[in-house]
Amino acid sequence: MKKNFKVKVITIFPESFPGFLKIGVIGKALKNKIWSLKTINPRDFSKGAHKSVDDTTAGGGPGMILKADILGKAINSAYKNVKDRKKIPLIYLSPRGKPLTQNKINQLSKKDGMILLCGRYEGVDERISEHYKVDEYSIGDFVLAGGEIAAQALIESTVRLLPGALGHKDSSKEESFNNYLLEFPQYTRPKVWNNLEIPEVLLSGDHKKIALWRTDMAEKLTKKIRPDLWKKYKKNKTIKE
Ligand code: SAM
Repeated sequence: MKKNFKVKVITIFPESFPGFLKIGVIGKALKNKIWSLKTINPRDFSKGAHKSVDDTTAGGGPGMILKADILGKAINSAYKNVKDRKKIPLIYLSPRGKPLTQNKINQLSKKDGMILLCGRYEGVDERISEHYKVDEYSIGDFVLAGGEIAAQALIESTVRLLPGALGHKDSSKEESFNNYLLEFPQYTRPKVWNNLEIPEVLLSGDHKKIALWRTDMAEKLTKKIRPDLWKKYKKNKTIKE
């Protein structure tokens, strides 16, 4: 049941880890060895007195680029003793990557681990992506200063799907994005708050009715808020029917 999912993060700011990953269920899973975390600092592979890892942009332009020769050594060291690279994919967190989705997170949670490359400055020398056939993923259409927060978001969402990480084994089953639907509205006591009541059906004890209401609400919300997901949901539903 327990699995030691191995996460290695290549970052020039190793002090930013475990960061948020040491709290809550993810921190507990780390303590319980459901997953493990190792940081690799590219500076350790730089020979110069200043341990420099970046250089000016070829062709001119502002900012600096993380060097391929240094990052290459860091990636090779992360892959040392890894027999099957397909079981431990290399991912570069990048604003130009494919959008990170729950589907991708599900796939990743079934692997043995992952190696995450965090960029800084203007990013990473393109030849890294070419040489290692790196998967590039973005956490949204906005630009962060570095890949570390994106890596922590990716790790957190993956680790919570690992067997034994969440207290209740069904906790992650009925969530937003499963089957392309957003989650239905949720309530807890008190029954009335600021004149707002918990919908009657949820207090009826009729599980069939409750399930129907939840599906209906999830569909309505998805259609209104995320027409892109709604399209996928409808297509998926037609295929299944
Ligand atoms: N020059 C790059 C561009 O325009 O695409 C932006 C570089 S950004 C300032 C530095 C690093 O932050 C990137 O190399 C990447 O690792 C990380 N980063 C920034 N935005 C991100 C996002 N939306 N998703 C994932 N990583 C991101």
